[in-house]
Amino acid sequence: MYNYKNNFLLEGKTKKLYKTDNINEIIIHYKDIITSFDGDKTQSLNQKGIINNQISAIIFHLLNSCGIKTHFIRIINNREQLCHKLDLFTLEFVIRNIVFGSMSKRLGIKEGIYIQNPIFEIFYKNDILKDPFINHHHAVFLKIISYEELNIINKISLEINKIIKKFFFDKNIILVDLKLEFGKNHKKEIVLADEISPDTCRIWDKTTKQKLDKDCFRKGYSNEKIINTYMKVLNKIDK
Ligand code: 5GP
Repeated sequence: MYNYKNNFLLEGKTKKLYKTDNINEIIIHYKDIITSFDGDKTQSLNQKGIINNQISAIIFHLLNSCGIKTHFIRIINNREQLCHKLDLFTLEFVIRNIVFGSMSKRLGIKEGIYIQNPIFEIFYKNDILKDPFINHHHAVFLKIISYEELNIINKISLEINKIIKKFFFDKNIILVDLKLEFGKNHKKEIVLADEISPDTCRIWDKTTKQKLDKDCFRKGYSNEKIINTYMKVLNKIDK
């Protein structure tokens, strides 16, 4: 029998990747690690990998069913999922529905203001530079991506935001912002990658406005409180 554990590919801050016997598919393993501030603060958080694997699978399954091309194929076990192998752009794309976090600091605008037309932002994924905010021209100048690909990603990102915003809203959750990553598959198609979970978006309880995401970690809440919050999200959407 094929044992993927002998086929380790690489390890990131919160995930491990394994090869499979299909060159176009990989296994993604979700670790119990939580990081923030571009990796400046890192700690282990028991059960987080299991919860995020499930949350992300539910959202990617939803996106697949809405016709969005994603890397997600299926869940394999409580920590692992089978995904299409992609060549990732070294970029992060953030879509904002409410002003918060770096946008508020950068522009000196109060947090919490509703944005009528969701804003699409680009960040250069680079740990040494701490993922700086860039524009389309920088990304093309750096030879990471073409203008045409950026236009496609901008359009898909807004569509994804619309789908997830509605999905969460129906579960009594507000989607404040979310971070997306994309890559290209072996057919050179643009495909959504990475994960969508409380680690990668800001979500608030619609009624209480309680934060249900990694901001709990950024604010220094206890491990128990953070994991209970992530579990609360899974329970709300897993219905
Ligand atoms: P901000 O730019 O306000 O710090 O973050 C905007 C959104 O993108 C938030 O939901 C935040 O969690 C997410 N985000 C930004 N950078 C990263 C990153 O490097 N890793 C992860 N997991 N999420 C990020």
